[in-house]
Amino acid sequence: MKVMKFGGTSVGDARRIHEVGTLVKATVAREPVGVVVSAVSGVTNHLIDSVAAVLKGKSPDPFIAGFVAMHGEMLTQLSRQFGAGFFRDPQTEIDLITKDYGNLLNGVTLLQECSASILDHISSMGERVSVHLIAGVLKALGLNVTLLDPRQCLVTDSVFGNASPRMPEVEKRFEPYRGRSFEVLLMPGFFGADAAGKITTLGRGGSDFSAAIMAAALKADSLEIWTDVDGVFSADPRLVPDAFVLEEMSYPEAMELAFFGAKVLHPRTIAPVAALGIPTIIKNTFHPDNPGTRIHADVEQSRRPVRGLSVLAGVAMIGVSGAGLRGVPGVAARVFSAIAREGISVILITQASSEYSICFCVSENQAQKAVETLEGEFSLERKAAMVDAIEARRELSIVSVVGDQMKSRRGLAGTFFGGLASADVNVVAIAQGLSERNISAVVGGGDAERALDEKSEFQKID
Ligand code: ADP
Ligand code: ASP
Ligand code: MG
Repeated sequence: MKVMKFGGTSVGDARRIHEVGTLVKATVAREPVGVVVSAVSGVTNHLIDSVAAVLKGKSPDPFIAGFVAMHGEMLTQLSRQFGAGFFRDPQTEIDLITKDYGNLLNGVTLLQECSASILDHISSMGERVSVHLIAGVLKALGLNVTLLDPRQCLVTDSVFGNASPRMPEVEKRFEPYRGRSFEVLLMPGFFGADAAGKITTLGRGGSDFSAAIMAAALKADSLEIWTDVDGVFSADPRLVPDAFVLEEMSYPEAMELAFFGAKVLHPRTIAPVAALGIPTIIKNTFHPDNPGTRIHADVEQSRRPVRGLSVLAGVAMIGVSGAGLRGVPGVAARVFSAIAREGISVILITQASSEYSICFCVSENQAQKAVETLEGEFSLERKAAMVDAIEARRELSIVSVVGDQMKSRRGLAGTFFGGLASADVNVVAIAQGLSERNISAVVGGGDAERALDEKSEFQKID
């Protein structure tokens, strides 16, 4: 069996949803399919923006009306095309979810407060609606659809906004479907629920991760991620017009590129499929006949040592430094334990050899929390002036080059930094993994774009 995931633009309007239905139907003729869908393009942003707006005193009404409008037109069109009978149940479900959204948003407006758990609950509503639109179309196309509720099967921890699956429990919940005959197992992406049944989201772009979790739990033969570009490109095609589609790549290469900013894959998508060696193909719903990018275990050695180049924007760097840290054992452990306890993920770490300072990068929206956490952890040392004030340097980006063959090419680091220098980019910090599969530089936010400019020497690195 195969798992197919369709992203926001792939379900962006009635015509596209029809095309998704056609693709699924063609696959069902050969094998059973697990289908994971994102929210209709723009809906998750709308939901998150609505919470921010009402907390700033705006009225919730236009947002609720907007949410209805974003799906209403599609429902009308689909009902007209396939027959209203197929969309009566979806309409009822969508009305219920919309009511739930209205109640919650009104609640947030009144209380002027929104917990991380309520924000996740609201954020999940795009997927909870879109899945019913797809279900209607698949049924209208004559397919037998089993709808899965991630609250029942995708069990996660309670890190709202960036939850992780509890795989043994998830596998148990998927057990009734593994190896069984079904036509379509349909599941909304992006969210699950914790042990207490509270909705949790897997981080922005998390439907890719949902699909990988489903593929691993069902021990699928393959995973297909259907999106709006022809596959994984050598660099973000929006930033680098000369970027080209990669025919294939290894799991570690895909993992590194996704982790360091290639938005086409949620950073944690690859781990579950890599563990089981499930081939993963990135395909374009607009050009389904194009081959896409195949991520698998037996990748041919590339002639180019650098497989791809990525930029992760919106990064902050936090430094813990002070004369009192020199040679004191356990400082790094304290820093990273405190950060981990708060559920903050660390993107990159560097430490000067004097052990006088430890620097690490986190996403900008977690910077404030990270600083407060460390100020608390080191409050005694701060009072004794052994540790300097802990501050975040914001508006940074990480520029990375990735490739399994990079280790066999001498001088690549020289080319990397030479390229950055020639693009007049100031490097704030650097990191290279032990596997030599990745070299990353932390740079000023605006500088990353200059490095990727088509005239830049850096961009030509291979
Ligand atoms: P979906 O809604 O299908 O999940 P996303 O918008 O999350 O789609 O991801 C696809 C987008 O990722 C592309 O439109 C492209 O702009 C961006 N992107 C960034 N880096 C890369 C890359 N290296 N290869 C392909 N796409 C990339
Ligand atoms: N709809 C969610 C988001 O926009 C998840 C996804 O698209 O994968 O982040
Ligand atoms: Mg995505």
